[in-house]
Amino acid sequence: METEHAHAAIEALLEERRTFPPTEEFRAGAVISDEEVYRRAEEDFEGFWAELAGEFIGWFKQPKKTMDWKQPHATWFADGELNVAWNCLDKQVEAGRGGKIAYHWVGEPEGETRDLTYDQLLREVSRLANGLRSLGVGKGDRVGIYMGMVPELPVAMLACARIGAAHVVVFGGFSAESLAERMRDTGARVLITQDEGWRKGSKVPLKRNADDAAEEAPDLERFVVLRRTGDDVPWIEGRDVWWDDLVDGQSEDCEAERMNAEDVLFLLHTSGTTAKPKGAQHTTAGYLLHVSVTHRWIFDIHEDTVWWCAADVGWITGHSYIVYGPLNNGTTSVLYEGDPAYPDWDRHWEIVERYRVNSYYTAPTLIRSFVKMGPEYPARHDLSSLRLLGTVGEPINPEAWVWYWKYIGGERCPVVDTWWQTETGAILITPLPGITPLKPGSATLPFPGILADVLDEHGHSVGLGGGGYLVLKRPWPSIARTIWGDPDRYVQTYFGKFGPETYVAGDGAKRDEDAYYWLLGRIDDVMNVAGHRLSTFEIESALVDNEKVAESAVVSKPDDLVGL
Ligand code: AMP
Repeated sequence: METEHAHAAIEALLEERRTFPPTEEFRAGAVISDEEVYRRAEEDFEGFWAELAGEFIGWFKQPKKTMDWKQPHATWFADGELNVAWNCLDKQVEAGRGGKIAYHWVGEPEGETRDLTYDQLLREVSRLANGLRSLGVGKGDRVGIYMGMVPELPVAMLACARIGAAHVVVFGGFSAESLAERMRDTGARVLITQDEGWRKGSKVPLKRNADDAAEEAPDLERFVVLRRTGDDVPWIEGRDVWWDDLVDGQSEDCEAERMNAEDVLFLLHTSGTTAKPKGAQHTTAGYLLHVSVTHRWIFDIHEDTVWWCAADVGWITGHSYIVYGPLNNGTTSVLYEGDPAYPDWDRHWEIVERYRVNSYYTAPTLIRSFVKMGPEYPARHDLSSLRLLGTVGEPINPEAWVWYWKYIGGERCPVVDTWWQTETGAILITPLPGITPLKPGSATLPFPGILADVLDEHGHSVGLGGGGYLVLKRPWPSIARTIWGDPDRYVQTYFGKFGPETYVAGDGAKRDEDAYYWLLGRIDDVMNVAGHRLSTFEIESALVDNEKVAESAVVSKPDDLVGL
C-alpha cells in the first residue's frame, strides 16, 4: 500500500465532520434529556452512584459505604447485602411485572418460538437452583455453563446467582480445549450443557465437546444436560443428569442466598488470543448497578420498550445487556438462538418486525455484513418500531455507521457507539442519545461519573487532538475486581504501566477538538510504517471507505524500504 495515500485517507476518516444531534422528538421522550447528569456526577461521583444504587438495587441490607479505593483495588457498597437473581426476578414480580414478558425467545429452526414471563422465569430459576443445591452446589462454588442461546442459558446463570455460586459461561462456539481450560482454571465441579445446539441449520455437538473437555478437566464431577435437539448423545451414568430429571419435583420456591456486595457473581474469560485467558472476576452490587443504569440510560429503556441485544450470552455483552441489566430493569427482551443469515439475511429484520423491537444492539462486523448483502434485506420488512440502534465490540467505520443509521434506522434513530470491555463489566464511553450530538465513528464521551484520559508513553495527558493510551483515572462500580487465581497479573496488566490509580485499557484512542473519543483498536494492533505507528483499524477503515470494499483485514509484512 502507498503509505501517503493511506495517510490521506486516514486523515479524512478522522476528520469526519458530520454530526447528528438528537431530534427534538427523541430528546423530548428520552429517559435522560438533561446535561445535568454530567454535572451532578462530576461534583460528587461517589454520591452520584450511591443515589442510583438506592433507585436500581433492592437490598437485603442497605450499605453505609460507597467506594473504598485502596489503589489499585476498589470495592463498592462493601457492607451491603443483596441477591442479584432476587433483583432480576422477585423484585420484578413484586413490582407487578409477573405477567410481563421477560424474553421473546426465537429458535433458529423457523417457527419455533417461546415467550417467558417474569413469573415463569422465577419459577424455572428456583427449580433449577434447588436442583443444583441437591447436587451439593452452594455459595462460593463455580459452575460451568456451556450452552447455545436457549432460554435455559439465562435460567442457569440466574439459578447460580440465586444460590451464590459463580457461573463461568463458556461461549457455545468454543472448542472442547477452550472449555477444558476454563473449567480447570476455575475449578468448576458441575457443568450445565445441552445435547446439541443449532447454528446455521446444523447441529453443534455441545455434549460431545463437553465430554471431551471433561477428560482434560478432572474436577468436573457432574453434568446437567438440557434436551434441545433430542438426538442421542453419549451418556455416563452417575455423572450425567438430564435437566428435566434434575428439576422434576423440585419446589418452585427457593430462598435467595444473602450475598455480600463484594461476593463473586461470575467469572468470564477475556478473549485473549496468545496468553492464557484471564478470568475477569465480577461481583454483585457494583456490577448490577452499573449494567442497569447504563442499560436504561444509553438504550433509552422505558417500561414498554422491546429490547434486543443481538450478541451471544457467552460474551460480556450478553451477560450485561441480555441478562442482568435488562432483567433488573424489568425489560422485555428478544433472545434469538441462531445465525443472522439463517435461513436468509433478513432474519433479524423479520424478528424486529414481528416483535416490534424498539432498541437494537449489535457489532460492527455484523453491520458490515449487512452492508455487503445490501439494503434490499431490511427493505423487505417494516422496521418502523425501531427508535434506537447501538454498536459495540470494535471501532465502527463511519460508512457502516451511516449505512446502519440510514437503512436500518430510517434516518430517525440515534446510533450509540458504546465502548467497554469484559474487564469493565459495563459501558464506559458512549453517547446519551437524548443529549449527545453523534459523530459517526466516535464513541463520543465518558459516561457520567467516568474519568477517562489519553496518555502518551510517559503518562502525560496528550490533550485534545492527540492520540495515545486510553486510560481510566478512577474506579467505577462494575470494574473487574481481579483475575481469578492470578491477582498479580491483574495489577500488572491493568495498572502496571502508569501506576496504581490509572487503569490502562490496552486500547489506543484519539480525542478531537470537542473531546470526543475515537477508539483505534488494541494498542498492540499497530504496525510501523516508515516510522509511523499506524493502527490496523485506521487502515482497515480507510479501505472500507471505498464503496467496493465491504470487509478488510490488515496484517503487516516486512518491507525493505519502509520497515515493519
Ligand atoms: P471484549 O473484552 O472481548 O469485549 O473486548 C473488548 C475490546 O473490544 C476493547 O478493548 C476494544 O478493543 C474493543 N471495543 C469494544 N467496544 C468498542 C467500541 N465501541 N469501539 C472500539 N472498540 C471497541
